[in-house]
Amino acid sequence: MKAEIIAVGTEILLGDIVNTNAQYLSKELAQLGIEVYFQSVVGDNPQRLKDTIFQAFSRADLIVTTGGLGPTEDDLTKETAAAYFGEELVLDERALARIERFFQQTGRKMTENNRKQALVPKEHGKVLYNENGTAPGIIMEKNGKIIVMLPGPPKETIPMFEEQVKPFLQQKQEYTFVSEILRVASVGESAMETLVKDLIDSQTNPTIAPYAKMGEAILRITAKAKSEAEAKELIAPVKAALRQRLGNAVYAEGETNMQTVVAQLLLEQKKTIAVAESCTGGLVTSALVEYPGISEVLLEGCVTYSNDAKMRRLGVKAETLEAYTAVSKEVAAEMAEGIAKSSGAEIGLSTTGIAGPDGATAEKPVGLVYIGLYDAGKTTVMEYHYTGKRNQIRERAAMYALDALRKALQHES
Ligand code: ATP
Ligand code: MG
Repeated sequence: MKAEIIAVGTEILLGDIVNTNAQYLSKELAQLGIEVYFQSVVGDNPQRLKDTIFQAFSRADLIVTTGGLGPTEDDLTKETAAAYFGEELVLDERALARIERFFQQTGRKMTENNRKQALVPKEHGKVLYNENGTAPGIIMEKNGKIIVMLPGPPKETIPMFEEQVKPFLQQKQEYTFVSEILRVASVGESAMETLVKDLIDSQTNPTIAPYAKMGEAILRITAKAKSEAEAKELIAPVKAALRQRLGNAVYAEGETNMQTVVAQLLLEQKKTIAVAESCTGGLVTSALVEYPGISEVLLEGCVTYSNDAKMRRLGVKAETLEAYTAVSKEVAAEMAEGIAKSSGAEIGLSTTGIAGPDGATAEKPVGLVYIGLYDAGKTTVMEYHYTGKRNQIRERAAMYALDALRKALQHES
């Protein structure tokens, strides 16, 4: 099935809003194995909307539109699609009742225009009732052509697609596509690709696609099969081979993130932690704080930016700073030990580095970061060299610090 996405709305053409619906729909359709060949945006103009829909149907079997289902004069998507199919629109009592109820609940006044939203095709149509707004969505289908019309606001578009459109499209598709995700940390995308390149190149079903994200890399394994179970069977051995190659660089599967994984490990093991941050300026602590319930194990986070703060708060020695400077293995170690000691935490985690653009010397370039980890009476310091802009370096350093902690915790469990 070949598909096109049409976003209707002058606001998008003017740049007032971003077309996030198209991004969402493209992703979802790809997952369903439906190929999207074109995306377009058209203003609230009847003639141009008609041209766009007619042109799209000349090259696609499925059109998904968003927007222009509202109550105003210029909301014309439904009327235009009905004209293409030669369909008559009639009032749907159930949709009207929903609209009336919505207005009662929100205490707003309903106008005659709102009744227009309850118009649906007389034949060849399916109404998508809207749990989160007034305008129902519509599916029209005739002679092998399908148009799915969804409301514009994402909080209405997304649940409607998820709950009503996806099952409809799945049932149209002969094949199902299943994806699984491996999340890889502290390796870097290109290094990861090199490690698994032969596997990526030799696979056709499932396919393996690498993506880079801040401080992590993602491998998406996608299989095409007649059933979900069959697709999962195809994925299993490929996933195992990738895991074997990448070892403990794979920190999780599926929709999660590093801070969640680390927070869960800390809570499971009931290990208390305190963080001393220099170049990351609170990013490590802040990431941990995203996890509800972390207060049971996270005792404190300290941003010790100046040398004075490192001495006063963490007990870093003046001689150490003098001899090695703040961005050094030695200072990272004393920071991690110092925060653990002063807070009474079992684990101390520290970061110190040169985020740039200034502050580099011949021996200490921009992107040099030390991560210190004090745990069970032992201190380890890791040295990394990152590239990129100041905040990319900071975010990467924070992810790597959390990953160092993750590895230590997994090793102990
Ligand atoms: P309404 O009943 O709210 O008028 P509608 O279906 O007519 O719904 P529009 O009027 O086109 O939709 O858009 C309503 C709002 O939805 C916009 O102001 C915008 O905030 C959001 N929206 C519309 N289209 C998109 C899009 N393509 N991507 C993201 N948001 C969108
Ligand atoms: Mg509108």
